[in-house]
Amino acid sequence: GGRLAGKVALVTGGASGIGLATVRRFAEEGARVLAVDLDAERTARAVAGCEGAVAVGADVRDSAAVDAAYERAHAEFGRLDVAVNAAGVAGAQADLCDLTDEDFADVVAVNLTGTFYSVRAAVRLMRRNSPPGGSIVNVSSTGALADFPLPAMYPASKAGVLGLTRAVAALVATDGIRVNSVAPGATDTPMLPGDERIRRAVVDLGVLRRAASAEEIAHTILFLASEESAFYTGQTLSPNGGYVMR
Ligand code: NAD
Repeated sequence: GGRLAGKVALVTGGASGIGLATVRRFAEEGARVLAVDLDAERTARAVAGCEGAVAVGADVRDSAAVDAAYERAHAEFGRLDVAVNAAGVAGAQADLCDLTDEDFADVVAVNLTGTFYSVRAAVRLMRRNSPPGGSIVNVSSTGALADFPLPAMYPASKAGVLGLTRAVAALVATDGIRVNSVAPGATDTPMLPGDERIRRAVVDLGVLRRAASAEEIAHTILFLASEESAFYTGQTLSPNGGYVMR
């Protein structure tokens, strides 16, 4: 049983935080899950004891590696129903004018271009299902919706993810594929600043005045991955503790 019984999912950023909570939740809901992250061994340790989860190493900046991870999902499970793009980086904290070309390019390469590579590979496999179909969930950020105290390339890359989501949702709708975004507010993962003062400032942006747990964000991702969200496509759900209300 479970809300994803019989489904096959691939989750990037699956070794930590929101991605790992999603892998665990999907497996509990009956899915077979490929957890993809930079380091295969670290990913395998993270998902150990999670029945139905398989760890794969891939850098989402490398399109051949992304394609290979999806081929692995197809070889292992014969189909693909759900893809979640949670791999992401916050980037260097620096004054705008001190940001280097590489600082900007690398955040875009992971958060936006990496999401495109993964979406493209997911659509290829979902079109091969009979009948064709699937659900893609891209992790953006409340930083794409409102001013957020992070370096400029982070909200820029995450706003790009929302545009990519809407564009692809329109292009693949007739293939039975839905594409949506989740834009979390401050979430308790290794990405949240360790410095207590900065952390407090970020968390206090939401009227609930706390960080989300990774499991709370995985709950929203599960909804968008499952058939319960069958009439959602091209949309953004933002669990953000009341930071942005709309
Ligand atoms: P996290 O650091 O715990 O997890 C991110 C994972 O992505 C890590 O395991 C990391 O190894 C992986 N990753 C980074 N670069 C990669 C690459 N090139 N290829 C493959 N994997 C790569 O952080 P998290 O908070 O769980 O972040 C998950 C997503 O949620 C990110 O996209 C992040 O931007 C987004 N997000 C986080 C917050 C928050 O407050 N934590 C808020 C909004 C959005």
